[in-house]
Amino acid sequence: MSMIPEETVDQVRESADLVGLIGEAVELKRTGSDYRGPCPFHGGTHRNFAVIPKKNRYYCFVCHASGDVFSWLMKRFGMDYPTAVREAARRAGIVIPETPGRSGPDPREPLFEAVAVAQDWFTRQLLESPEAADPRAYLEGREITLDTAGEHGLGYAPPGRGFLTAMKELGLDDKVLLEAGLTAQREDGKVVPRFRARLLFPIHDLRGRAVGFGGRLLVPGEPKYLNSPESPIFHKGKQLYNLHQAKTAIRKEESVILVEGYFDVFRLVLAGVEHVVAPLGTALTGDQAGLLRRFARTATLLYDSDQAGLRATFRGGDELLRHGVRVRVATMPEGEDPDTLVRKGGAAALQPILEDGIDLLERKIQLLERKGWFEGVEHQREALDRLLPTIRAAADPITRDLYLKTVSERTGVSREVLREQAAARAAAPPAPPDAPTPSRGRPVAPVRRRRPGLEVAAERLLLWVMLRDRSWIPKAATEVPVEWFETPVLRELYEAMLRSPENVQSAIFLEHLSPLAQKALARVDGYEAKYGSPDLDRAFVDACRSLEARPLRKKLDEIKALRDGRSITAENFDTIVQEEREIRNKLSAIFPEELLKRKLRRGDVDAR
Ligand SMILES: [Zn+2]
Repeated sequence: MSMIPEETVDQVRESADLVGLIGEAVELKRTGSDYRGPCPFHGGTHRNFAVIPKKNRYYCFVCHASGDVFSWLMKRFGMDYPTAVREAARRAGIVIPETPGRSGPDPREPLFEAVAVAQDWFTRQLLESPEAADPRAYLEGREITLDTAGEHGLGYAPPGRGFLTAMKELGLDDKVLLEAGLTAQREDGKVVPRFRARLLFPIHDLRGRAVGFGGRLLVPGEPKYLNSPESPIFHKGKQLYNLHQAKTAIRKEESVILVEGYFDVFRLVLAGVEHVVAPLGTALTGDQAGLLRRFARTATLLYDSDQAGLRATFRGGDELLRHGVRVRVATMPEGEDPDTLVRKGGAAALQPILEDGIDLLERKIQLLERKGWFEGVEHQREALDRLLPTIRAAADPITRDLYLKTVSERTGVSREVLREQAAARAAAPPAPPDAPTPSRGRPVAPVRRRRPGLEVAAERLLLWVMLRDRSWIPKAATEVPVEWFETPVLRELYEAMLRSPENVQSAIFLEHLSPLAQKALARVDGYEAKYGSPDLDRAFVDACRSLEARPLRKKLDEIKALRDGRSITAENFDTIVQEEREIRNKLSAIFPEELLKRKLRRGDVDAR
């Protein structure tokens, strides 16, 4: 058997005549835009079973059976998923292109099945269990009706071990449950349900199969949101909440709205805004940005206006720019999120906010301006440092050019210099040697004969600063690209800290780290005891400069090796000299005091 392309699966789902197909088994009558009939799943006699052509879905208001054309065929006729797709395609007259692929059934099939069975059970708990009175009240408080919750497959994971018993009774294998991330094994070997006392949002892959859950805790405790762990079918950095439903609308609108939370997505969808998705509890990743680029050319970021929201906005925005997506930022009124806003005023309340959205770089400039960052040379330099990452990120040449123009006009720095800076990954433009700069007089890592391991120490030092004082994390996020970390385990730590700055060192944070990274974290944490307590500000700057200079120094070493090996010829002499000069200029920009010293040695400047 071959793989069926995802686009074909979508096409089949959208072309399926669900009313006709279900009508063969159920006597359906039109009610408004839907069709109603007695439910074949619980054997009802009243018209509680709805087929909703607009959504290509069916739903029973009594037993809460729900699904699409494929799940109908699977549940009614016992077909497996690929067979159901083929059958639905045959009925819709769609030819499935046979692409060569893995032969035999998908080995992940049992995991999909386990998550589907679990989701069904969780939904039933939410809607029916006496234990679920609180979550039902909670939803009511957020103005979400039970029918709506059921229709969208929301669920409730009760506290205790009821889930384990139920899954056993349904014949699910312990190993499969563990691999699907539905259970967790504690250190003492005891297996427990992963989700307890949580309201669950099902997360689907692009084909609409449930692959995991996002769970909101409904009792006091931490963490407030818990996702399924990585599994062969769930990848939180590569999937997006609601993309399976939203993708058609996104294609149609040629645009996507990104929000932070599951409730935000849910609320917008209920209000009829369908082209909306959310990352899965982390900052938007490159993979997610790439995925969105397949469906949309532009994105609107609709995050909270608090510090965390802004951080997420700019990180996510830069990722999207890197993938050639144009980014607008819509600003929520203070203290509101999309959920609360739309709950009060409907989609109409959202419209003006979306319309007032401005370009990502403009938004950055606006914020810097408000803080007075364009006044005075020193400040302006820092403002530039904050804008450069966004210019760098812009993969689309036109966007990039416009950005260079805008920043040049705003700061008075020429476009050529900006372009060079953006290309060089240099964080600081060269300062005139006679201007007092904040970095003057600081100890400098030597350019030559550096100690091996010095930059690894810089990686650790940077992490230590971020650990010591969390407020450095957002600064690092805008200024220190992940690639500067060359030690894999330290890079893992860095990425983890950027992902969940508020959880750093909590149990859940540690749980997501590899054992090696956990050890590294302990070492970084013990830095102070070993080396004393350096000034944070200085440590941060020194570590950054050291890391930024590393690739340049490597390049210089290579050139030096060429020279020593007498591989320099008349042909390549000019190029190499030119290259060396450029690298030295860039290093001087990073270490202006080095330049000053060299000039002093040569007598270029007055030594007074
Ligand atoms: Zn039913």
